Amino acid sequence: MSATAALSAAKPSAPTPMMAQYWSLKEKAGDCLLFYRMGDFFELFFDDAKAAAATLDIALTSRGEHGGEPVPMCGVPVHAAESYLARLIRAGHRVAIAEQVESPAEAKARGGSKALVARAIVRFVTAGTLTEESLLEGRSANRLAALAEVGSEGEVAIAAADISTGRFEVVAVRREAVDAELARLAPSELLVSEAVGELPAWSVRQVVRRPTSDFSSGAAEKRLMTLFGVQTLDGFGQFSRGEIAAMGAIAAYLDHVGTGTTVFLQPPVRHLASGRMAIDAATRESLELVRTMAGSRDGSLLGTIDRTVTAAGARLLADDLASPLTDKDAILDRLDLVDAFARDALWRGELRSDLRALPDAGRALGRLVAGRGGPRDLAQLRDALGGARVLRERLGRRTDLPPLLARLLPGLDGHGALVDELSRALIETPPVDAAQGGYVAEGYDHALDALRETARDGRKAIAALEADYRDRTGIAALKIRHNGVLGYHVEVPAKHADALMAPESGFTHRQTLAGVVRFNSSDLHEAASRVTQAGVHAIAAEAAHLEALTDAATARREAIAASCDVLARLDVAAALADHAMSHNWCRPDLADTPCLDVTGGRHPVVEAALAKAGERFVPNDLSLAEADRLWLVTGPNMGGKSTFLRQNALIVVLAQAGGFVPAASARLGLVDRLFSRVGASDNLARGRSTFMVEMVETAAILAQATPQSFVILDEVGRGTSTYDGLALAWAVVEAVHEVNKCRCLFATHYHELTRLAESLDALSLHHVRAREWQGDLVLLHELADGPADRSYGLAVARLAGVSPKVVKRAEAVLAKLEAGREKTGGLAAGLDDLPLFAATLAAEPAPVKDALREALASIDPDALTPREALDALYRLKATGGEV
Ligand code: ADP
Ligand code: MG
Repeated sequence: MSATAALSAAKPSAPTPMMAQYWSLKEKAGDCLLFYRMGDFFELFFDDAKAAAATLDIALTSRGEHGGEPVPMCGVPVHAAESYLARLIRAGHRVAIAEQVESPAEAKARGGSKALVARAIVRFVTAGTLTEESLLEGRSANRLAALAEVGSEGEVAIAAADISTGRFEVVAVRREAVDAELARLAPSELLVSEAVGELPAWSVRQVVRRPTSDFSSGAAEKRLMTLFGVQTLDGFGQFSRGEIAAMGAIAAYLDHVGTGTTVFLQPPVRHLASGRMAIDAATRESLELVRTMAGSRDGSLLGTIDRTVTAAGARLLADDLASPLTDKDAILDRLDLVDAFARDALWRGELRSDLRALPDAGRALGRLVAGRGGPRDLAQLRDALGGARVLRERLGRRTDLPPLLARLLPGLDGHGALVDELSRALIETPPVDAAQGGYVAEGYDHALDALRETARDGRKAIAALEADYRDRTGIAALKIRHNGVLGYHVEVPAKHADALMAPESGFTHRQTLAGVVRFNSSDLHEAASRVTQAGVHAIAAEAAHLEALTDAATARREAIAASCDVLARLDVAAALADHAMSHNWCRPDLADTPCLDVTGGRHPVVEAALAKAGERFVPNDLSLAEADRLWLVTGPNMGGKSTFLRQNALIVVLAQAGGFVPAASARLGLVDRLFSRVGASDNLARGRSTFMVEMVETAAILAQATPQSFVILDEVGRGTSTYDGLALAWAVVEAVHEVNKCRCLFATHYHELTRLAESLDALSLHHVRAREWQGDLVLLHELADGPADRSYGLAVARLAGVSPKVVKRAEAVLAKLEAGREKTGGLAAGLDDLPLFAATLAAEPAPVKDALREALASIDPDALTPREALDALYRLKATGGEV
């Protein structure tokens, strides 16, 4: 049952005023959990309460009755709401916050003593629109995406915004490529129009349906123009209607969740899928580029090689690995930069320690633009941009700058005036919160200094008064104190109070407590009000400066964001160089033919894991070329097949991301699409049977891989019966070889497949070596030419601790089976008579051209008026008569 249905079913005929208010807010909240503010708590009711209590593991109670049933309820204290919110959001919920928008006194004045305090939803907290630092992960982007399809061209636009840094991008892709693009962006929330039908199983954590009107390109354009304060969007580039609709949907949603508050979005940048390696969702998942299959950063390629020293650098490295380039010059540019840092350890070290000291200016700017910034954020900008200036001067003095660096450097310019202003205006480490003042530096504003002087003098005068009163009264224990209720006052021990009680004493009694009595005096009152007045004015003056400085900073938001990008790029290049040098990685060479030559290749993640256990990784070579482009890798389980396949895919990703690679040498022709499939991976999470998944994913490769692609197929066909599996694996290898003609590594335990080497001339056989030694299996993890001589299955079983009795029995069964194979020719018996795959292709009948079919296909029933439909029918009838 949907949330709204649940509500209306439970709606009573005559609700109490509070319930009526609750229901009207709940209706606005839709399928978000409603946090209903009551005093010091946010209360949740009905199904919301059940869901929240279960997620948060807090007590579910009840309050009153509703339709004869107790109303389920739970609550969280307001002061701790943020941590509860974080858990709810992580569990996939969205939350609407309903605050009291008037005080009880105001409510009484408005509607009498029984009046209910007015409440309104002040914001929605959703995974894709978080801004709270405590709810965000510093080193990863947090994206909100929207998807729009306009017209029937089969193109889909995806817009994605990270409102914590303002990064806003849009990309148009073919419908088949949507999932791959979503997998690259990994949004925490995806917006889709209500009008779109059932959605495919995308790899997105949370999909939110929004009204169709949010996606109308006309309204979207207006919304974007308002958001960016421009008269036309042309200045940002030419966007299709679909792209505008997707971007507009983001703007509309941000407006909705923030209920109108500003957010930080930079002008949209079009992401060109054409300059990027196509990597689909299944490939990303199996290669664990930026996340492991279990979803953690640790243990992924990114987690293993990330040596960035800034949060923005870490975010950029994740983007780079998620989206390697296909443009040779762009890759060479990045490689040159990494190379320069790799060669000069001293320079690299200096740069990295400079960068490490810089605060995360991108997110500080995001908070300032969103109106949630404070003095600390301005200081972060000051320090980051000031640091950038120093860095820029130092780098500018070098004569040997790589071209990319020379082009990037000017992007650090132009903040001098702002940095100077902020440096003069702010103290070294200002508070996060502006409320108490004290963050504007001495000397910046003379009027402010004078106010502070007055306050200081006042405090001195008060101190002097204290001494004076002690003298005059002879009470050594007399003190002048300050508290929130009385302000400044004179305090004496109760036993001395009488003297001051006298009417002519000049003191006025204020308060008697157990041990002390408190007084005021006119002198004290006067001094105190000078202090307070000056303090209030000083805080106001500081607030005005804060506002002006914030305006000055946010006016330069785009230039600042651009500088942050430059710093992030430097960080990434230096980090890649640093990691490459300490792990003996090499600069890859780019070739113009579709080759892939690797000597001494390694798997960075497996190697790191082995290193921890004190073990050594065995490097392996690969050499693919047009004439030898498909390697069939056999060998025992645990022998290192999967590792070998993946390490080569990762080398391709790293090289085209512009980094060094884990090898002694590497040379590759650029890869346009990368595919990785693992047979029968446990993919039940996506709700399809594993074998079905395996086949769907394999079909995608056969449909899309080009001669420039690189494909790794790991035990494809494993997910079904032996005969089916072998047959499919066989046919897939043939198709990849004959039709796709891509570079491919195929690992298999079907020994029978090695017979394909006889008919497919660009296919060669390889195996991971193993040896039996004194009855034990020794896996060498070393690749060698030719087929494996045997499968060692039983030896692996023994290694894995299967009991000797069982292994012995298996040996007997195996002997029988092998004897049978000798006689019959085994699994692959009879395959010798199989016509060649190429022949099958040729024999396939060409599709018949049929005028009637074509005419029928060209009709779009939804687009026809009744009259046109009738005409079409007549035309069809006429066409049918012709043939
Ligand atoms: P397979 O796919 O042949 O079953 P894997 O590639 O999964 O084998 O490797 C199994 C284990 O062997 C890995 O987890 C790793 O610990 C080890 N291994 C794989 N390749 C190497 C290598 N080149 N050097 C050292 N150990 C390796
Ligand atoms: Mg394997």
